[in-house]
Amino acid sequence: MTVKYIFITGGVVSSVGKGVTCAAIGRLLKERGLKVAIQKLDPYINVDPGTMSPYQHGEVFVLDDGAETDLDLGHYERFVDENLSRVCNVTTGQVYADVIAKERRGDYLGGTIQVIPHITNEIKRRIGLVPKETGAEVVLVEVGGTVGDIESLPFIESLRQMRSEAGRENTFYIHTTWLPHISATDELKTKPTQHSVRELRALGISPNMIVARADREIPAELANKIAQFCDVDPQAVVPMPTTDVMYEVPLLLEQQGAGDYIVKSLGLKPRRKPDLSQWREIVTQARASKPVVRVALVGKYVELHDAYMSVRESLYHAGLAVGVQVEIDWVNSVELEKGNGWEEVRAADGVLVPGGFGNRGIEGKIQAAQHAREQGVPYFGLCLGMQVMAIEFARNALGHAGANSTEFDPKTAYPVIDLMPDQRDLADKGATMRLGVYPCQLQPGSLAARAYVAETVSERHRHRFEFNNAARGDFEGRGVRFSGVSPDNRLVEIMELAEHPFMLGTQFHPEFLSRPTRPHPLFIAFLQAVADKAGVLAESIPMKAEIN
Ligand code: GLN
Repeated sequence: MTVKYIFITGGVVSSVGKGVTCAAIGRLLKERGLKVAIQKLDPYINVDPGTMSPYQHGEVFVLDDGAETDLDLGHYERFVDENLSRVCNVTTGQVYADVIAKERRGDYLGGTIQVIPHITNEIKRRIGLVPKETGAEVVLVEVGGTVGDIESLPFIESLRQMRSEAGRENTFYIHTTWLPHISATDELKTKPTQHSVRELRALGISPNMIVARADREIPAELANKIAQFCDVDPQAVVPMPTTDVMYEVPLLLEQQGAGDYIVKSLGLKPRRKPDLSQWREIVTQARASKPVVRVALVGKYVELHDAYMSVRESLYHAGLAVGVQVEIDWVNSVELEKGNGWEEVRAADGVLVPGGFGNRGIEGKIQAAQHAREQGVPYFGLCLGMQVMAIEFARNALGHAGANSTEFDPKTAYPVIDLMPDQRDLADKGATMRLGVYPCQLQPGSLAARAYVAETVSERHRHRFEFNNAARGDFEGRGVRFSGVSPDNRLVEIMELAEHPFMLGTQFHPEFLSRPTRPHPLFIAFLQAVADKAGVLAESIPMKAEIN
């Protein structure tokens, strides 16, 4: 099988939606019956984003195989709906770590190790792993940052070399740029795009397509001008004005003929005509006027919404399915501890506590959980959010005032959340995180089982601590159901309160598996309870079954 490669670079500025563009193009190709995978090349030196601050880097997206990756992989999976592999995210840190390890082992037989060819060869090897691991016939490769950055040079050079190695007819280069708007003259400018393409050319890459982003409509003459000055076909200049509905991007690209152009240029053989009706439905539903519900998202990285990207998207997907407009009130749990922000929590129709690490802001989250439990407000806890729910229940319903997780208080009298005994020996070695997909068995008749309509599910994890089995009996006697457990019953995966409209926590992260075309059942169940609490008659609009 000949693998076709599409390389996506960015120019002018970052944050113009390169990841979404890439994901949407992936969807257009999948819609044609092609097997697609997407890889992100991140030029930073960290080995993976797992240890990076969410403030700087946004969410860490976790894959089935447990890889901790860039949040763009979340976009890829949500749009293309293919579960990606750890080879789909490469950082400079990983590349260098490998090359240096080989050098130390003497694999280079005393040779001088250089960026070219050693680093570029390792980058190309990792690009080549994607079709091998995923079986994809079309591989999209996005390079983080903007062309001209010092740190991305080895990646760009590797993409350049791929052209002759994979064959000119099997490679396609897309450059995504930004057209600034000058308010004095009310016009969009193409000059930075021209400069950016020149920069890319200087590095040996001539783009086959330019996706020109702007915050307003892009006149046809401008697109022609870009084609002329940047030496690409007029049909290959794709104007992409900002849309209020991100899931419209595949539709906009298709309308402009981007899918057909790529297919033709690469000589791809589509197996079917693209059917984007499901995406049109999503966009129509997104724009339809719907009753508003308010969800207080109580976390500590709330200033940067990207830190909770998948949670926000999951609420959005489920909102479309339930037929409500979800307004998120971003509540800082550290502030709750000081008595600030409670108006938002009290006014909310639902409370969601997402994942997190470390002590800071924990008490604020526990107080928010207490409010939700006592006031009958729907509560959804994700990972840390489940642990918070357990601590709150132990303290205020079971009367263990000092209950805590040993993560926050190693000497707690009632360690309701703790390391598993076999983890403790490993703790010093640092290899203690439970990462990736694990099966979970649901208790028949529980809220969880009714939401999923399944007996066993698989969900993604990223945590170290677990519900302490010694405490299970105390909880069960008081109306708590452990409605999801590992098949060997050693690990609590879901806990829920029987006497509450909806108070449910998951040790896993359901947000990593929600797709616009397949909203996550637990998010749907949560929003149904939220809509009920808000008193809005949410007319459920069932989405068509996924055509995968
Ligand atoms: N800090 C908790 C743990 O390590 C929860 C992690 C999370 O929410 N992802 O178990």
